[in-house]
Amino acid sequence: MIPATPKIRVTAGNDAPLRADADHVVYWMIAARRTRWSFGLQHAISQAQGLGLPLIVLEPLRVGYRHASARLHAFVVDGMADQAARFDGTPVAYHPYLEPEDGADKGLLAALAERAALVVTDEFPCFFLPRMVRAAASKLPCRLELVDGNGLMPLRASDRWFPTAYAFRRHLQKELPRHLDAFPLADPLSAARGLPKATVPADVAKRWPAVDARALAERDRALVTALPIDQDVGVAELVGGEGAGREAMTAFVKAKLRRYSEDRNEPDGDATSGLSPYLHFGQVSAHEVARAVMDAEGWHESKLSSDPKGARAGWWGMSEPAEAFLDQLVTWRELGYGFCHHRPDDYDTYASLPDWARETLGEHATDERPWLYDLDALEGGDTHDELWNAAQNQLRATGTMHNYLRMLWGKKILHWTKSPEVALDIMITLNDRYALDGRDPNSYSGMLWCLGRFDRPWGPEREVFGKIRYMTSDNTARKLHVKDFVKRWA
Ligand SMILES: Cc1cc2nc3c(=O)[nH]c(=O)nc-3n(C[C@H](O)[C@H](O)[C@H](O)COP(=O)(O)OP(=O)(O)OC[C@H]3O[C@@H](n4cnc5c(N)ncnc54)[C@H](O)[C@@H]3O)c2cc1C
Repeated sequence: MIPATPKIRVTAGNDAPLRADADHVVYWMIAARRTRWSFGLQHAISQAQGLGLPLIVLEPLRVGYRHASARLHAFVVDGMADQAARFDGTPVAYHPYLEPEDGADKGLLAALAERAALVVTDEFPCFFLPRMVRAAASKLPCRLELVDGNGLMPLRASDRWFPTAYAFRRHLQKELPRHLDAFPLADPLSAARGLPKATVPADVAKRWPAVDARALAERDRALVTALPIDQDVGVAELVGGEGAGREAMTAFVKAKLRRYSEDRNEPDGDATSGLSPYLHFGQVSAHEVARAVMDAEGWHESKLSSDPKGARAGWWGMSEPAEAFLDQLVTWRELGYGFCHHRPDDYDTYASLPDWARETLGEHATDERPWLYDLDALEGGDTHDELWNAAQNQLRATGTMHNYLRMLWGKKILHWTKSPEVALDIMITLNDRYALDGRDPNSYSGMLWCLGRFDRPWGPEREVFGKIRYMTSDNTARKLHVKDFVKRWA
C-alpha cells in the first residue's frame, strides 16, 4: 500500500459521506499539476487503493478566469502533454480538459462525481481557486477532500500569519524538523500499478472530450491560440510542464547553486533557478527542489542546528549558497502561502498592510510625484526611465522578471502613480496579467512588500515613500551590471 499522506495536509471540504456503491475515485487536479512528489496524487491513489476502486484524474483548464491568456494556457497545456505521457500505460485514467468557451465545463466535475466514492483536490490559498473549490464542495454529492502539498511546512502547522520573514523563520526552525521526514513519494504513480483499470464514463468523455492526444503530444499551439482568451498576452518562449521544470531544477542545482549567494541579484548573472512559474502551476514541487539541494549537499537531518534563533544562515548546516536558496524557497515562499491561508479575505489589499506602512504612506499621499504615469504608459514600458522600461518590456514579452528588478519595478510604480492604492492596483494588474508565476501567494507578498509588508520603517523619511524602503534606478544601475540588460530590452 502507498504510504498515507500526513493527516495535517488533508481537510474535508464538505460534510458529504463517502459513497458506498461507487465506481471510482476522482482526483480533481487544479493546482499541483504534476505526477511526481505530489501529496494530492498520493492521497488520491491511497484512497483508491483502500477502496479497491479505479482512479480518474481530471485536469481542467477554464477560459473564464481573470487574465486567462494564450501565455498561461500554453504553459499549462505543456504540462498536460507531460502528464498524458506519464499516465499512459498506467491503470489511472487521465482526462485533460480544455474548456472551449466560458461556462462549457459546467457540470463536468459533478458528472464524474455522480459515481465517485469521493473527490480529492488540491488546496491552493489564493486567486479564484478557494472560491471555486468552496462552490464545488457545497454542490458535490460525495465527499470532497483537499490536500495541501504547497510547501515543506503544512499550512495548518501554524495557527497564525507572520509579520516578518524573521518571525516566520524562528517559527519554522522550531516546527519544520517534525515535517522533514514526511516528504511525498517521488513517484506515487509507480504505486498505482495494482489499481483496477479506470475509464472515463462514455457520456462524460463525449460531452467534455479530453484534449486531442496528438495535438497535445505535438504541442500544437493552435490548442490555445483558437481559444477565447487574451491572445495579446502571447505564448512565452519558456516551455512549461514537469519535464521542463525538472530540467531547470537539475541544471540549477548542478551549475548555478554554488553562485547563488554571490550572483543572485544580478539580472544578467543567470544565477537563480527560474523555477517560480513551475512552482506556481505546481508542475514542480517545493519538496522535490529542497530534496535536490539536500542531496547535492550530502545533507542529513543530523546537520540541523539545535539553536533555532531565526538566523538567515547556519540553521540548515549547509553551504552558504544552499542556505541562501532555501531561505527563498522555504522561508520567503512559505511566508506568503501562510499569509494567504490565514488572511483569505484581504491578502491582496491595501488594507492588509501593517499600520505603520499605511500611516506613513497616508502622510505622504498628497506629495507631488516627480512623474505621473497611468496604467497604459506603465504597461507599454513608456516612462522616462530606461531600466524600468527594460524590466517591464521583458515581463511583457517573456512572462518573467528578475527578482531585484521586480523590487525596483514595484517601488517605482509607487513613486510615479497618483496614490499608493492606485500603485497597488496597477502592480497587481500588470503582474497577474503578464507574469507566468503571477496570481500566486508570492505575487502578493512581493507587491505588498514594495509598500511595506514584511518590512520595517526605514529612514530618512522621503517624499511619496515616507518611511517605506526606497529604491532608485540609478542606485540599481551603479550596484549591478545592467547595461546589457537595458540594451536588450529598453
Ligand atoms: C514586485 C514583486 C512581484 C513579485 N511577484 C511574484 C510572483 O508573481 N510570483 C512569484 O513566485 N514570486 C514573485 N515575486 C518574488 C520573487 O521575485 C520571485 O519568486 C523570484 O524572482 C522567482 O525567480 P526564481 O524562481 O529564479 O527565484 P530563485 O531565486 O531561484 O528562488 C527559488 C524560489 O524561491 C521563491 N522565492 C524567491 N524569492 C522570493 C521572494 N522574494 N518572495 C517569495 N518567494 C521567493 C520562489 O518560489 C522561487 O522560485 C515578486 C517579487 C516582487 C518584488
